[in-house]
Amino acid sequence: MSSFLEIHLPRIEKNASSIVKLCHKNQVSCFGVTKVFCAEENIVRAMIKGGVDGLADSRIENIAKLRKMKTGLPLMLLRIVSPSEASEVVELCDYSLNSEISTLKKLDAAAKKQKKRHKVVAMIDIGDLREGMMADEVMNFFAQAVKLKNIRIAGIGTNTACFGGVIPTTENMNQILAIKALLEMQFGLSLDMVSGGNSSGLPLLASGKMPKGINHFRVGEAMVLGRNVIDRSPFPGTRQDTFIFKGEIVEYRVKPSVPIGNRGQNAFGETDEFPQRGEIRRAIIAAGRQDLKLDGLTPVDPETKILGGSSDHLIVEVKGDPSRYKVGGFMPFYPNYGCLLALATSPYIRKKVIGDG
Ligand SMILES: *Cc1c(COP(=O)(O)O)cnc(C)c1O
Repeated sequence: MSSFLEIHLPRIEKNASSIVKLCHKNQVSCFGVTKVFCAEENIVRAMIKGGVDGLADSRIENIAKLRKMKTGLPLMLLRIVSPSEASEVVELCDYSLNSEISTLKKLDAAAKKQKKRHKVVAMIDIGDLREGMMADEVMNFFAQAVKLKNIRIAGIGTNTACFGGVIPTTENMNQILAIKALLEMQFGLSLDMVSGGNSSGLPLLASGKMPKGINHFRVGEAMVLGRNVIDRSPFPGTRQDTFIFKGEIVEYRVKPSVPIGNRGQNAFGETDEFPQRGEIRRAIIAAGRQDLKLDGLTPVDPETKILGGSSDHLIVEVKGDPSRYKVGGFMPFYPNYGCLLALATSPYIRKKVIGDG
């Protein structure tokens, strides 16, 4: 395998530690989200060294990996439970996030069979319009959920800035707390967990404006890539150079800037414009759309620019002194979250761990 993903464990550990400290200072417990790196053990261990209180992933396959690591930490399934996986969820997860009563009944039946009491977090949609029930459905959901003997409703949660880009605010977080108070009164419950969200809640937490009572966060991107996910600026106290994609150069030569001949669509049905810029030096990197997201890579070297790519090739313009690269050499790029997701998942990209986490 040629091109690879360099993973800097001590930097990830440091990021995790900064975020966990911020959470703990505000009486918030913090689960590390492992989905973007497919719950790769070295990185999980770095998060644990950073002090996370639990681990969370959206895929049951990754939760199974986490379970095998015997970390002793609670495991949470992030994606709304798939009814077909109810039995595995009860077997492998300490917590799952739920919004469908029919699925909750499946979990209840599976828990009964396994002689377990499965903990669920009921997801409420405050407007981002991905998962969760709307506020007016909550009472009806709970009226049925409290009857399920093998389920323990650990709390409520919400998700933000995922589909609709809705930002957590004092107001919408207070709505969640109001719903909690109402539920506790109506059903005589005590809900331990109010899972206020993901990385997008951290700026509000840091500003001191997160209402008290929001006591749980599920954090991925801010730990993994050190980003404030509301505008993708660096999050205070974190590093952004945690993952570096190193693309192997397989061709390196000067060519015209404009294709020669009659032009139709490219391999992806697109018709691009090629301004006349004379001859340019270009490197072909051995990785492509099968492994990464073209628009999710930022060159580390400011004198390089991604021109485009196909399934297996990335075409990069190189300015300045050409002798700093050569065929067989490697060119570095920072991946964003979406690109990291693709790189980490691609079986064609080698993962090279730096530091022992
Ligand atoms: C992915 C995910 C998270 C983590 O989101 P980040 O923005 O990476 O912190 C939290 N909760 C749920 C439900 C998720 O799917």
